[in-house]
Amino acid sequence: MKPEVELYDTTLRDGSQGEGINFSVMDKLRIAEKLDAFGIHYIEGGWPGSNPKDIEFFAEAKRKKFKNARVAAFGATRRKGVSVQNDEQVRMLLEAETPVITIVGKTWLLHVKEVLRATPDENLAMIGDTIRFLKDQGKFVHYDAEHSFDGFSDEPEYALATWHAAEKAGADRIVLCDTNGGRLPNEIAHITKLARGKLNTPLGIHTHDDIGLGVANALAAVEAGAMQVQGTINGYGERTGNCNLTSVIPNVALKMKKFCLPAKSLRKLKELSQFVDEIANIRHNPRLPWVGSAAFSHKGGQHVNAVQKLSRSYEHVDPASIGNSRHILVSDLAGRSNILVKARELGFNITNDTPELSKILARIKRLEHEGYEFEAAEGSLALLIRKIFKHEEPPFTIQGYHVSMRHDHATSVCEASVKVHVDGKSEHTIAGGDGPVNALDQALRNALVKFYPQLKKVQLSDYKVRIIDSASGTGARTRVLIESTDGKAEWGTVGVHDNIIEASLQALSDSLEFALMKK
Ligand SMILES: [Zn+2]
Repeated sequence: MKPEVELYDTTLRDGSQGEGINFSVMDKLRIAEKLDAFGIHYIEGGWPGSNPKDIEFFAEAKRKKFKNARVAAFGATRRKGVSVQNDEQVRMLLEAETPVITIVGKTWLLHVKEVLRATPDENLAMIGDTIRFLKDQGKFVHYDAEHSFDGFSDEPEYALATWHAAEKAGADRIVLCDTNGGRLPNEIAHITKLARGKLNTPLGIHTHDDIGLGVANALAAVEAGAMQVQGTINGYGERTGNCNLTSVIPNVALKMKKFCLPAKSLRKLKELSQFVDEIANIRHNPRLPWVGSAAFSHKGGQHVNAVQKLSRSYEHVDPASIGNSRHILVSDLAGRSNILVKARELGFNITNDTPELSKILARIKRLEHEGYEFEAAEGSLALLIRKIFKHEEPPFTIQGYHVSMRHDHATSVCEASVKVHVDGKSEHTIAGGDGPVNALDQALRNALVKFYPQLKKVQLSDYKVRIIDSASGTGARTRVLIESTDGKAEWGTVGVHDNIIEASLQALSDSLEFALMKK
């Protein structure tokens, strides 16, 4: 089925300009494959004229078979005073051997005169010559009209002349760009509509999020007649980022009801968003619209109650449609229904009349008052609920530990010993590590693996420390949150103590106990 709105991803080019983003060639290939499998229509792989890494990417990419996407190489119009055949940068674009080429050119007379230092006519020739040359080589050509909206506002006649030059030369798409991201949706809509009326070439929109309107501006342009949106996964990009495709896609499909991707792709949106963050080594932002872990979280007791009765009452769409899920938070505000839902999520069969319910609630409230936080520590919460329900022996107890650290010249050495008790037997182990917590983790694990070999698969994936109530002056407490994984599932555990080592040990011990409970 032909899309009503095309998706053009520039995560690998514009997105890689973002602060803290540094993709290797392998990273770029993995992301391109994921975007293709997801169903994105165009993948802009990079600018071969700007760096050798991008040349290498295209060399690898041409050996791959993409099912859904067409790969695009990005570049600029020929330089002034040089024929297009002799332009080095244009030659490198052709050497990328992609089916699609995207060319950026100047719309704004101010830029033509002050930045390019070219005459208005020379700029029109640069646009026309480059596109015509690439069309003659059999390429599908996107023309990215830089500063479309600023240029049009300043000199509408000249902006139009540049777009006409692109159309006359045979551009397949003319993409209006809000390059500095400072325009409002009504301005974007107005100018897109005017362009739509004057041009026959299908229009695209490329926006940035400098004033928080990247997505809104893209949607305004679609409403006004653009049929392609350019953006990046999770809104990566220079400054505050590009238009975020993980918001654009569900808005176009579910709110504007325009076909861009099959529903089965849409259900993988959250996974795609997490995948790209993982490759970029960035923690997934819980507050991302649509795909963040908090996007469908409910905290207030009344809300939770209502969501259980009628999810439509507090949710704008079914979270499953974009691969997200409803998440009930346990917190200070928690009413009985929060605990009930959470306990059921964790596999406990309890109802509103279960007598232990108020005991669990009271215990959570007391611990939260002491500085515990269970929203990201489901493992610790599950153990707490189980302890109140079942009066069975824990799988292990820690009888004692010792941690030491010394510094010799340039190296520091940490060592920990732990004594555990399992089923009437004791085990005492010693281990080293890069830090005291790492050494403690190793020692505890080595001791327990002898009894529970399944713990070998459990790994610590994140460790966060926060100092709480430091303002009170009566000694700050430390809260440690640990995330663990067994390769399949992830869970969080928490520890709170005046001493960071004690707090860490609580969270470590909960993590391993929860891993055993899951079996
Ligand atoms: Zn851009």
